[in-house]
Amino acid sequence: MSKKNKADLYLDVIALHKEVTGSCILCTVRFPNREKLKFIVDCGLFQEEKYQSSNYSFPFDPSEIDFALVTHTHIDHIGRIPKLYKDGFKGKTYTSKLAAELMPIALNNTAEILSSNIQKNSKKKVIVDSSIPVFDNSKPLFDSDDVANAMQNVIGKDFNTCFKVNDHVNVTLLKNGHTLGASCILVTIHYKGQEPINVLFTGDYSGSNSFFTVEDIPDKVKNLPINIVTESTYGTTSKNEINHVFEDLVINSIKNKETLIITLFAFGRMQEIKNVLKKLQDENLLSKDIKIYSDGKLAHEYDNFYTSHYEDLNIKNFMPENITPVNGFEQRNGVLADRDCKIILTTSGMGNYGPAQVYLPYYISSPKATIIFGGYTAENTLGRKLQEVQERWNI
Ligand SMILES: [Zn+2]
Repeated sequence: MSKKNKADLYLDVIALHKEVTGSCILCTVRFPNREKLKFIVDCGLFQEEKYQSSNYSFPFDPSEIDFALVTHTHIDHIGRIPKLYKDGFKGKTYTSKLAAELMPIALNNTAEILSSNIQKNSKKKVIVDSSIPVFDNSKPLFDSDDVANAMQNVIGKDFNTCFKVNDHVNVTLLKNGHTLGASCILVTIHYKGQEPINVLFTGDYSGSNSFFTVEDIPDKVKNLPINIVTESTYGTTSKNEINHVFEDLVINSIKNKETLIITLFAFGRMQEIKNVLKKLQDENLLSKDIKIYSDGKLAHEYDNFYTSHYEDLNIKNFMPENITPVNGFEQRNGVLADRDCKIILTTSGMGNYGPAQVYLPYYISSPKATIIFGGYTAENTLGRKLQEVQERWNI
């Protein structure tokens, strides 16, 4: 993206995340008149334990950022947006209209988790490792007021409609199948007398989604001289292969009269898996007599979001039959006491938070239970640790 002549229009792109989570790409435009413009694409929370301290400061001055763009509303892509505003960012954040509606759901849930973690930590004696930068862990990274403040500056835009961010930058959001409301973001930077610079930020990209149609990237975009900045997290896995393995696991576990526990991200994957179970029921591969439990407050909020946005979706009803939402401690104990063969869908996807922390220890040693982690698990999360143990012992 840089050009040889320093007097030319020039763009630096730096990915500031060292691993899968904490997505944040810093872009610096240098104009021929020596002026500069800075923007970021995504501003996610680091979820790997060894990078947690990186959540508490930015390797740039937030007050120098002119604007932010958001590809989608997974917390590893938006989880530090409130902190960004708290630390001095004054610009606007642009994303799709659906993502702008979804953002406060995810951010308020994270604010709740951050505050309950602080309460838990204050009850423990914390041993400080001097190799880890010291940060003030008596206050959460952000709270619901910070979320409300950030959301006042978030602007939702239509897909496929170019909009002007300022005199030199145009942006177009293209629909991305990764999640509801997700975009690939085309940024065009122009300056009089210079070749424009086109960059496509894919975010976590998927060319399909079971809930809505994803059009191919338009030819007029493909034919541009373009730079592509992509995330490779899901780059080497074939969705079809995963679907087959998953469906076989469900069918075989039920055939063996087991309890099947599936940990899922509340947003997207939870609804996708419910739809797969419904499909298996419709194809008579899964009996409608098998009870399905769905546990996780945030997952229920997203389920409601999906059902209230049918106009944006191809699938009108994704709920399998015989599904019971589980709300709270008492009902959860009832699920644990149920000795029948059943399916439990639970948050969190990586097993570190939420009701998964009750189900996983309870069923981990049961010969009549199968546990499936429904998505990526970051280093040091319960999900990753269990997978590592399984690989080490080849079980
Ligand atoms: Zn994602």
